Amino acid sequence: MLESAVQDSFREAAAQAAELVADYLADLPDRPVWQPMPEEARAALADQPLPAAGLALPELLAAAERTVLPYPMGNGHPRFFGWVNAAPAPAGILGSFLASAMNPSSAGGDHADIHLERTVVRWIAELVGFPHPPGAGLLTSGASMATIVALGAARRRAAERAGHDVRADGLSGLPPLVGYATGETHSCVTKAVELLGIGSRNLRTLPTGPDGRFDPAALRAAVAEDRAAGRLPCFAAASAGTVNAGTVDPLAEIADVCAELGLWLHVDGAYGAFGALDPELGERYRGLERADSLALDPHKWLSVPVDCGCLLVRDPEQLRGTFSLVPPYLRDDSDPLGWFSEYGIEQTRPFRSLKVWATLAHAGRDGLRERITTCTRLARRLGELVAEAPDLELLAPVETSIAAYRFAPADPAVPADLLDKVNHALPLRVQQRGRAFVTGTVLRGREASRACLLNAATTEEDLRVLVEETLAAGRELLAELA
Ligand SMILES: *Cc1c(COP(=O)(O)O)cnc(C)c1O
Repeated sequence: MLESAVQDSFREAAAQAAELVADYLADLPDRPVWQPMPEEARAALADQPLPAAGLALPELLAAAERTVLPYPMGNGHPRFFGWVNAAPAPAGILGSFLASAMNPSSAGGDHADIHLERTVVRWIAELVGFPHPPGAGLLTSGASMATIVALGAARRRAAERAGHDVRADGLSGLPPLVGYATGETHSCVTKAVELLGIGSRNLRTLPTGPDGRFDPAALRAAVAEDRAAGRLPCFAAASAGTVNAGTVDPLAEIADVCAELGLWLHVDGAYGAFGALDPELGERYRGLERADSLALDPHKWLSVPVDCGCLLVRDPEQLRGTFSLVPPYLRDDSDPLGWFSEYGIEQTRPFRSLKVWATLAHAGRDGLRERITTCTRLARRLGELVAEAPDLELLAPVETSIAAYRFAPADPAVPADLLDKVNHALPLRVQQRGRAFVTGTVLRGREASRACLLNAATTEEDLRVLVEETLAAGRELLAELA
């Protein structure tokens, strides 16, 4: 009875894995947030040979416990403020485990994962107040993939309006397509236009005001200029939460210009769209619901375990018309929406919806709202602490849950280029000290640290530690680099 022996050993190992995971999560807050890996530990992972004979499940778990779990990236810790990486929701961890046991392809068909994906995509739309006709969205690997899918649809629509079938003929014979963004737009938009053959030279970086926001008047002027030159304006990409400072663009005014000029409006809400759940912030997101497409990342602020992005669109036929390779006469009419694989790029698709369902259903709408609101409140508090600290400068008002700041001692004898060097080196120094983790950026030409609050378990005391660590690291670096 080989089969039942296998099942018994799985049952035991799974129970052991559950203990391991529970211990890992419980111990995390008492450990350094992150530490550089010792060379031997790095080599043990990077250079290990494929074992000739297989390892038993308990041995595998023991090896993972020894060589993998001690070296996390740091997200999960309440003092991790780097990039836009969340702690995993425990319910989502369980969802991942169950989903991999079923292991369907969520391309399409009549099985649980397909119907659950329809629901979680609708829930995501409801959470941010985006209209959701059936079929108007899907889960993706992340917002980068959601952006490629969205701009692929925008490209097809613009070409079609010019009497051109881009699916059959590619871009040849078309005037250059043009997209519009700002210096604060995420690089995934550039990646998408490069890949889609639009070319990054045809992605206009529109001038912004001093607040870095997308300027609808600049969009109008640039479109007029491009049309006069015979080019084909295609889309505008606005941000519902920039990655540098959490800034939300004036979406309603941009939507007006896009509607008037016939442009596809894409909104990047990867980090910030869920900020709309905070009643105090709701007004900033006015106009979000008018986008043609909205990219979001449940694997960021919603704490769904990686990977999980989501694309929502106004008109499901824009996606199906771009990606479906099933001729209409072969469509399976038992489900008029067809297969998810007709709405995007992936064919075999992972069962992402179970971890989303588990995370959202466990928290409930009220729990999610509370988490988001806690994060925005903490970020505003961090902004206050930075503004009060004698040697720090807050670089932008805290709009959502990101605070951007720099080390700026009042001493006029410190030359500007030295301060830039200090600020450039500052995030890594804070990371190496092990008590907090932030990452850096260049915000409108200035070296900055930026802390992103995504973890509702973070406390005000954690924020004080971050400020202390920033000051200590800044002073250390100033002495070293002077
Ligand atoms: C993270 C992020 C992206 C890219 O999303 P991935 O999920 O990493 O592919 C795009 N835009 C913004 C604002 C982001 O924060």
